[in-house]
Amino acid sequence: MKTFYIETFGCQMNAHDSEKVVGTLLEKGYQQVDTVENAELVLYNTCSIRDKAEQKVFHRLQQFKREAGKGKVFGVLGCVAQQEGERIFERAPHVSLVAGSASYTKLPEMLIQLETGNRRVTGLSLDTTDTFDTPFTSRDSPHRAYITIIEGCDKACAYCVVPFTRGPERSRTSESVLREARSLAELGYSEVQLLGQNVNSYRDPSPTGWDFARLLDETGRIEGLRRVRFTTSHPRDFGKSIIDAIDRNEALCNHVHLPVQSGSDAVLNRMQRLYNRSDYMSRVEWMKKARRDIAITTDIIVGFPGETEADFNDTLRLINEVEYDAMFIFKYSKRPNTSALQHEDHIPEEEKTRRFTLLQEQQRSIQMRRNARYVGKHEHVHVEGYNVATNQWIGRTSQHKPLNFTDAQLPAPSAEKTLNGKYLDVLVTRASPNSLAGESVLQ
Ligand code: SAM
Ligand code: SF4
Repeated sequence: MKTFYIETFGCQMNAHDSEKVVGTLLEKGYQQVDTVENAELVLYNTCSIRDKAEQKVFHRLQQFKREAGKGKVFGVLGCVAQQEGERIFERAPHVSLVAGSASYTKLPEMLIQLETGNRRVTGLSLDTTDTFDTPFTSRDSPHRAYITIIEGCDKACAYCVVPFTRGPERSRTSESVLREARSLAELGYSEVQLLGQNVNSYRDPSPTGWDFARLLDETGRIEGLRRVRFTTSHPRDFGKSIIDAIDRNEALCNHVHLPVQSGSDAVLNRMQRLYNRSDYMSRVEWMKKARRDIAITTDIIVGFPGETEADFNDTLRLINEVEYDAMFIFKYSKRPNTSALQHEDHIPEEEKTRRFTLLQEQQRSIQMRRNARYVGKHEHVHVEGYNVATNQWIGRTSQHKPLNFTDAQLPAPSAEKTLNGKYLDVLVTRASPNSLAGESVLQ
């Protein structure tokens, strides 16, 4: 039996790609192990969205370099593989396999080449119409599952490597997506998350030609699925029909992640985001007027080249207006091949840090206010696990807020008695900026 170890860096798309890689390897007779030392094949599924993420992978390769001498095969998958290509062999000569995510359909072939003694194998083609659609997915959770609906990205945001690392957009047929969703429901999964770099530009390639809102709505009608999430949305392609679907269909979670990146029109324009502040705010308006209480979350980049103090203040004003439920803040990081490299007015690192901290502090008080609204109310949670350190069950609301709770009536967790995967109504008794806490469960 051949053994493999895999470590994943980066976003949900990478986490799900790894589930497919693991499934493919298990099907080929490999056995997964949890340490590099015990593995014959060591894989890193990598992220290159920011420089730090990329450096982590090279650090890891360096850390285990000695193991290569013991006959182990090292492989680099994902975005750094696609971006750096054969240069990886120069930077880390003990690596034998370099494959970008658009080449994973060829993974079984590449593995055979490695097994038959090929020293160096690459899969770097981006001109594929394939999606990495495999029947052999090994899922990390028995309750919640990812489903890829669209791969790649056709936008050209000035700071972003994704179009270079994941190739052009390819949508899966709605029939194939719904088939996967139905079979997950039959296996007992009750929550699915539809994935893509820009799910809103989903277009069914079959004659039905469904758009994203239709696909979302139909997924939410599958018997057995109680929660359907989706990420990520691009504001330019985000239509009101998505909000209408959420309002109509309780199975669709009332949470939208809508990355704004900046509150300044000048910066949005230089970022090539294809919308302005007012376009964005009209989408926020739809959500605020919705029947359901929709949580809005976002991504913001601070210190994009040329971002002035006035631009940054526009972002501060925007976050006060929207009142986001959660936010991921990133300091702009220069990425290879991207058009933002041509800008000359780069912001010093200390200034990026100052803006990062200011934004973080302001958002923290907004989240405190947002979360305090739930104290005294019952929230429906999907139970994800148990925290031994705090003696609390871990749950998530439809809005994707963590709600940690205890109840003397509940069984202590054991192999036979777990609440994982169950849906419960929990009374919220406390709120903090990043989570809610509850103390009793409505049986
Ligand atoms: N496709 C999604 C979108 O359009 O928002 C997600 C792209 S990326 C995986 C997630 C986030 O990383 C982006 O929304 C952006 O805020 C951030 N990001 C991307 N490139 C970056 C860069 N060069 N420097 C800093 N942050 C970056
Ligand atoms: Fe990157 Fe923009 Fe595509 Fe998102 S939409 S993946 S930020 S290029």
